[in-house]
Amino acid sequence: MFKTWIGSVFYRHDTGVGHPETPRRLDAAVDGVGRAGLAGTFVRNVTTHPEAGRIIAKVHSLDYEREFEAACRGGMRLFHSLDNPISPASFSAARGAVAEALAAAEDIWSFGESTRAFVIARPPGHHAERTEAMGFCFFNTIACVAEWLLEQQGIERVFIFDFDVHHGNGTQHLFEDRDDVFYASMHRYPFYPGTGARTEIGEGRGRGYTLNIPMEAGDGDAAYLRRVEDEVVRVIDDYAPNAILLSAGFDAHRLDPLGGMNVTEQAYGEITRRIVELAEKHCRGRVLSLLEGGYDMEGIAASVADHVRAMS
Ligand SMILES: [Zn+2]
Repeated sequence: MFKTWIGSVFYRHDTGVGHPETPRRLDAAVDGVGRAGLAGTFVRNVTTHPEAGRIIAKVHSLDYEREFEAACRGGMRLFHSLDNPISPASFSAARGAVAEALAAAEDIWSFGESTRAFVIARPPGHHAERTEAMGFCFFNTIACVAEWLLEQQGIERVFIFDFDVHHGNGTQHLFEDRDDVFYASMHRYPFYPGTGARTEIGEGRGRGYTLNIPMEAGDGDAAYLRRVEDEVVRVIDDYAPNAILLSAGFDAHRLDPLGGMNVTEQAYGEITRRIVELAEKHCRGRVLSLLEGGYDMEGIAASVADHVRAMS
């Protein structure tokens, strides 16, 4: 069983006129799910979860969370940098994203009601550091899901595959000294945010549990599929995860105005099929995919359609 999760609170995070991280991205993702014939899979407005606050406090500092909440409540328009516009509802949206993702994870890993899920939310999360907002991100949602999963019985190894065109600096830094979360990222490099060199492989206990696959500007399907086949498949087989999470950004799509890459929706479908096969082999097929970036509306819709079709 496949489910798609979406909530109205995510429309209320207002980034202002002309910002690429717009609420229209939600409509594009919803449209993509419909194009795949999966409009019947929506779960709507489950955007609170009893454990959301506790898990956010595990990933971020309490001071950071309070500072973010106060900035939103106080009517500030930016948080930490020019990249991160906020509005009064931004805190609720960011917290709601974590809650929705936890609800989707619980549905899969605790209740067994679904096998795979696509979580549509914004703001995105993978650039958010423990105490710093970056790159349109405030709470690191995928990291929150990983922390929650590791509290569940029988889950000792979580694999995060991040195929957003940008390196997920926040996710890497949160887990780089640990071996219970493997972080693998394919991203344009050098590019924003500047991290994600091939030589960043983790530290201490976590050495060898971070994989960075730098891609060149303009790379397309062949380069992406080759790297997945040669590197991502191998590390998933070696790691044998109990759970697989996807940081699903679609900003490497050929239409994307920020990414500068040439990936088509067919390649996103192919990559997703490969991940699902590996999940079937290692972790009962269970995959949670979370929307990260993607800034062309047709690029998002087409990519999401092929992505969710491969998961359904
Ligand atoms: Zn991105």
